Amino acid sequence: MASTRSAWDEIVIGSGMGGMVAAAALSRLGHRVLLLEQYESLGGQTHNFSRDGFRWTAGIHYLAAMGPDQREKAILDWLTDTPIELAPMGTVYDTLHIGDAPPIQLSRPTEAQKLDLKEHFPDEGAAIEGWFQAIQAGRKALETIIRARSLPVAVGAVSKWWRRAAIRRWCERTTAEVTSELTDNPELAAAFSAQWGTFGGRPGTASFAFHASVIGSYLDSGGFYPAGGGSTIAEHLLATIRAQGGEAHAGVTVEALRMENGRVVGVTTADGEAIAADKVISNIGARETVDRLLPEGHGQQAWVDEIRALGSNICHFSLFLGFCGDIEAAGATKSNHWLYPTGETDAVWTDVSNNVPPAMFVSFASLKDPAYDPGPDRKHTGEIIAWADWSTVARWAAIPPGERGEDYHDFKSQVEAALFAQFETYFPRLAELVVFREVATPLATAAITGHTKGAFYGLDVTPKRIMSDALRMKTPIKGLYLSGQDVVSPGIPGALWGGLLCAVSIDPKMAVHLGG
Ligand SMILES: Cc1cc2nc3c(=O)[nH]c(=O)nc-3n(C[C@H](O)[C@H](O)[C@H](O)COP(=O)(O)OP(=O)(O)OC[C@H]3O[C@@H](n4cnc5c(N)ncnc54)[C@H](O)[C@@H]3O)c2cc1C
Repeated sequence: MASTRSAWDEIVIGSGMGGMVAAAALSRLGHRVLLLEQYESLGGQTHNFSRDGFRWTAGIHYLAAMGPDQREKAILDWLTDTPIELAPMGTVYDTLHIGDAPPIQLSRPTEAQKLDLKEHFPDEGAAIEGWFQAIQAGRKALETIIRARSLPVAVGAVSKWWRRAAIRRWCERTTAEVTSELTDNPELAAAFSAQWGTFGGRPGTASFAFHASVIGSYLDSGGFYPAGGGSTIAEHLLATIRAQGGEAHAGVTVEALRMENGRVVGVTTADGEAIAADKVISNIGARETVDRLLPEGHGQQAWVDEIRALGSNICHFSLFLGFCGDIEAAGATKSNHWLYPTGETDAVWTDVSNNVPPAMFVSFASLKDPAYDPGPDRKHTGEIIAWADWSTVARWAAIPPGERGEDYHDFKSQVEAALFAQFETYFPRLAELVVFREVATPLATAAITGHTKGAFYGLDVTPKRIMSDALRMKTPIKGLYLSGQDVVSPGIPGALWGGLLCAVSIDPKMAVHLGG
């Protein structure tokens, strides 16, 4: 790596949304930032990849809170010289298929969604009203906790104490507890909790505040998709970093933090290069930071233990699909689809020999992207995802790729067949247009993103995580900061806020640019 200076204001480790946003925000304030990424391309889970003339984005199917009048969009515009083009998905952004019941379409804005649900469940008007009130209250409660993490400890503690009743009610209870208080209609309860895969929090164990915050953020304006796919986000944000004299390098693994006199003073890369900085921001995940980067003698064992006590989020299998032909005529839409073949929504795939994954998600990303050119063959892309448990692949985790043997090959074939069979069941006419398929397992996620146990959403979203003081952006180790989804919530908007609030913790001048 050819870095043109020996010392930086900040080094950011990991080029996901949170790392890029923290780096771009600090660059806007005049800091010179070095961004280091272990993977071969920059952008973390926002990166695009191609096969046989088809293109996918690794970790974006829709973006919330990106309406023209929304705060997150205004902040993104401030971070970039030219705006990132975000295309609306239209009125309906999610379609729920729960057991054999007729599909339920989820539309924006809130009032439209309420009306649709009330038509679907005519006897449940009060429960539906109560649900939307709970979502607003849950979002506010999470906001209190997150803001407190970026404030000085005493100020944050007072703001949490002031709102302690709301925090107890919405953060410390699970989605299932809140849902069961509102309705005993199992189909409605399933509809309330069906989008849990947007942040990985199963209804029985997730803090309701995460559920409210993530699914609630789609209600005002629906979903948006970046024109050109997720990589356009990196192109825009990296330009801001470089314009200020910063640099961003892919293919550079940070091996350790360098500490002197109890303070982080830089990093050492896997190539043995020592790079100095006033401050270091880790965007690789809180657990990954304490497990992989901290040197001996850091002096903050209680903080490390508290992070290690938080579990990992779910992992997933993907089947990437390439189509040739008129996929809209065959039934594809911009709306995503949530598939629950048995009607049970609180489930993940634990046993691949049971070839019906209990919880899946389908998206046709190329239809959402106005910059996508399908060409004369009308080439389009889709993806079917099954939410899963790491135990499905754990036995091969310690074996390098290429050496995993015939049984792993058979396992992948079994996964591919199971996912494609489900795709054929729900979308028979589209299945006939498939000309390309490739399966990805949680082992690929672990290798590409570095996330422990393939947990692409980071830490588990339990009440324990929400209440943990260990996830502050400014860590107890001097000079070390955390950014990204683990300090706020899973998803691109969560990672964006993780980057912004990390920047505020380093340079309070950032606060005036947050609005609201
Ligand atoms: C299949 C899938 C679908 C998704 N769909 C959506 C969606 O529709 N909408 C949405 O909002 N979110 C979605 N997400 C989630 C979203 O992509 C993530 O929540 C978000 O990108 C996390 O951003 P981050 O910056 O916190 O971390 P990441 O993007 O995970 O970035 C961490 C980076 O750190 C790097 N790194 C790790 N260790 C090191 C090291 N030692 N040295 C240098 N670099 C290192 C990694 O390579 C990685 O690039 C999806 C994710 C997946 C996988």
